[in-house]
Amino acid sequence: MKAAIPTRVATGVYQLGLGFVNVFFVEDDEGGLWLIDAGTEPGAERIGGGLRALGRAPKELRGVVVTHLHGDHVGGLAAVKAHTGAEVWAQAEDAAALREGVRGRTLEPGPGVVRSAIVRALGGRAATSAGDPIAVEHEVADGETLPFGAAALHTPGHTAGHLALLLPRDGGVLFVGDAATNFLRLGVGPIYEDVDEGLRSLRRVAGLQFETALFSHGRPLAPQAAERFRARFSGG
Ligand SMILES: [Zn+2]
Repeated sequence: MKAAIPTRVATGVYQLGLGFVNVFFVEDDEGGLWLIDAGTEPGAERIGGGLRALGRAPKELRGVVVTHLHGDHVGGLAAVKAHTGAEVWAQAEDAAALREGVRGRTLEPGPGVVRSAIVRALGGRAATSAGDPIAVEHEVADGETLPFGAAALHTPGHTAGHLALLLPRDGGVLFVGDAATNFLRLGVGPIYEDVDEGLRSLRRVAGLQFETALFSHGRPLAPQAAERFRARFSGG
């Protein structure tokens, strides 16, 4: 797999594209490095390449925060853990599932015809998937401040244990995970375990202050990202 170069997207924050999913490196105040999500299984090698491109040794990776249990976010986790020794942080509900090897639960489409077609293409509402159990060392509660300074936001909907993260840097950097996407424009995610809950989570996030939004799927949104979330998600 060809090398991927992390792109700086905020102060001490780097986005690494692994095909259709992005992961992020975040520098903490003490010179340590954190990873948000671990991408697909074949992407683990690129994460190792990303560390090297940032001039980092594997042991400098202090931890991996998982936004949720889907395979395109945790597929590379076992390899990254083995390579770096980093521990894993996740919300309790998705952490419990990860320990059982669950990589996906029953899904329903987001609003609109296109999203229904995506869910059908993925195997329909009964789609669930499994993999090897993953050790999660740290369970994260809503509002908790993570060791690198980001606040954890429990944002259920896409999955029951979905986390977004708000880093108080550069006027606020929001790691959206799969709570929303930003391909051609800012939009709701294609698939949900619970659509209504997902929309509630988006309205809550839209009430926060952040200048930059970073998506697992899609392009960074800046500046005034919170205003754009409010315009898109606050109504009804
Ligand atoms: Zn997902």
